[in-house]
Amino acid sequence: MKQKQQKRRKSSNVLLDTALQEFYGAADEMGLSERLISILSHSERRVHVSIPVEMDDGSVEVFDGYRVQHSTALGPSKGGIRYDTEVDMDECEALAMLMTWKCSLAGIPYGGGKGGICCDPLNMSKREKEKLTRTYAARIEPILGRWSDVPAPDMNTSGQEMVWILDTVSKMRGHLEPSILTGKPVAFWGSRGRNEATGRGVATCGLELMKAIGRNPDTATAAVQGFGNVGSYTAKTLNDAGVKIVAISDITGSYYSSNGIDIRKAFEAVHKHPKKLLEGFDKIGNCEKIENDLYADAEFLFPCARDGVINRKTAGKIKARYIIEGANGPTTPDAEEILQASGVMIVPDFLANSGGVIGSYFEWAQNLQGAFWSEEEYNSRLIHIMKGNFRRVWDYAEAKKVVMRRAATMTAIQRVADVVEMRGMFL
Ligand code: NAD
Repeated sequence: MKQKQQKRRKSSNVLLDTALQEFYGAADEMGLSERLISILSHSERRVHVSIPVEMDDGSVEVFDGYRVQHSTALGPSKGGIRYDTEVDMDECEALAMLMTWKCSLAGIPYGGGKGGICCDPLNMSKREKEKLTRTYAARIEPILGRWSDVPAPDMNTSGQEMVWILDTVSKMRGHLEPSILTGKPVAFWGSRGRNEATGRGVATCGLELMKAIGRNPDTATAAVQGFGNVGSYTAKTLNDAGVKIVAISDITGSYYSSNGIDIRKAFEAVHKHPKKLLEGFDKIGNCEKIENDLYADAEFLFPCARDGVINRKTAGKIKARYIIEGANGPTTPDAEEILQASGVMIVPDFLANSGGVIGSYFEWAQNLQGAFWSEEEYNSRLIHIMKGNFRRVWDYAEAKKVVMRRAATMTAIQRVADVVEMRGMFL
């Protein structure tokens, strides 16, 4: 027992430590062998690059860039590239590990990776960002590849950064490499349907949950926090299926109507607003402003804005009985304990929002074939996979008598562990 504990990693980085402890907890509960625990608690590859950039004022700044491949057991490592002042190796490693579990749970042939550059993108010109991105791409080029590592956009990166990376790597290799990353614009090897994929997947999980508990969507009420990419399409898909959305929100506030929010009108309002916000929607949307839509009188809550919003301070005020996590990490562990004690069921983020990475897989699969699917084909495949994944976790949770987050983690780890065992070690 003592020897077992000695092998366990600890990190001073909260994100990495949380990821490791969640892994160890699930692995112990599954009875995973100590050799597999050792292998899977370490990343296969951690790359650190220096990126010199000549800034617009003529000075040179050297930025730190990272790319971590946690596991390539199931397939090429998949995960975003983020630009942020908080980016470091530990953060990338934590997020890469979570991507391994997310891809495994999603049932797609990917391992987990993550990368990023420590920088302040909001205070950089487009030209500076292009130089930063292209030099980063050149420096991590040796590890990028359609069968080795396939990045995607993440915090503060978009299709533009993906095109710069793709163009740089293609020029270095002397041929076009569309399948080395996803999240590309539709006009340049991107995929129709990707924009809506995450929200559509979140809503599909919500609707499957309703089916599992015998709830009719036509009489269900929901609140959706955040009206960006994930929140808006979650709200729209639920609404199209008959669910009454009584509250929506963004950084300008929360908007409530017991009769149901007109989601089409909310889309129009956001579309017209210069910063794509709901500001002033209470005046045109036949609804009122409330303190926080997390506390709205709705049976189902979809936090689709940001991490940590459901915490020790807010958890006790939540009226919803079911929470479907559209955002990454919206519920803190202490809040989860409070909610569990009062019988609230949570569908965890890495199941609920996996429509995004499943959609990325679709883009890659199309690129490899040089084919383009219709939006209908994309959507029907996505919904089919999401429904199956939800059902698998639901059944596992029922069979093992564990909460859905633990069931999802255990299912995900098991698939990776089985393949690592099957593939074996070199010697
Ligand atoms: P986004 O920037 O498009 O939208 C975020 C929305 O949340 C905006 O409407 C913003 O105004 C609102 N918001 C921010 N803070 C808020 C608060 N305190 N209360 C209410 N609203 C608030 O971002 P997104 O792409 O929709 O991502 C949202 C979350 O989903 C993030 O946690 C992200 O990591 C996660 N996620 C996104 C994808 C994807 O494909 N976009 C995939 C998986 C997970």
